[in-house]
Amino acid sequence: MNLEQFATRVKTSRAVVFFTGAGISTESGVPDFRSPGGVWTKYQPVLFQDFLASESARIQHWQLKKATYELFKTVEPNFAHLAICEFEKRGQLLGLITQNIDGLHKIAGTSDAKLVELHGTDRLVTCLKCAKRYEPADIYEDLGEEFTAPTCDACGGFLKSANVSFGQSMPVEAMQRAQSWSEQADIFVVIGSSLQVQPAASFPVIAKRCGALLAIVNRDPTPLDDMADFVHNGAIGDFFRRLQSKLGDS
Ligand SMILES: [Zn+2]
Repeated sequence: MNLEQFATRVKTSRAVVFFTGAGISTESGVPDFRSPGGVWTKYQPVLFQDFLASESARIQHWQLKKATYELFKTVEPNFAHLAICEFEKRGQLLGLITQNIDGLHKIAGTSDAKLVELHGTDRLVTCLKCAKRYEPADIYEDLGEEFTAPTCDACGGFLKSANVSFGQSMPVEAMQRAQSWSEQADIFVVIGSSLQVQPAASFPVIAKRCGALLAIVNRDPTPLDDMADFVHNGAIGDFFRRLQSKLGDS
């Protein structure tokens, strides 16, 4: 179907689910961490098992996260993040599932009740032992050139940014909410995800099998495009501007 037809379906839906990946944040200036010059080429992500086992791995984790923290201080939500907030205000949003750890959906104003951050968030630091929460600024601003890995002032456990690291299990409750929204969606919209990583790629398939209309908006083609009812390859901000103008004229 074309954008016109898609917009017509969107207008009457009360159960839209968005699923977002890195592509939605590039227009905010968040680079793909895997790309050349990205922060992952300078600091390798640390496996969770290594983080638990070795101080040097923990220091490597904090060096990477400090660089990310400095970057995340400077980025703001863009038109697409805000457009999704409008769906919640209109009572059309069943849920928003994101793979991103940049916290921009929350900063844009999506409520916790409607948001699942599948891979956790870098906007929080937690204790792995007692789950005490810390403001990132309180931790990162104390990390100088040379430092030891920060520990919890309540229990002495290791602190860690609240993202889900490689080798760390996916949060059970987040997975369950994402699964349930995917089953109940009447429109499921993928935004800026290449859908090449599991379990990300499974949610659109679940939604489609349960009868949702599936839309995929991404700069490049994805492996699930053939299954989708509506596909838009192009800039994401531009897509939301065009959709918004179609939703406006009724
Ligand atoms: Zn603790």
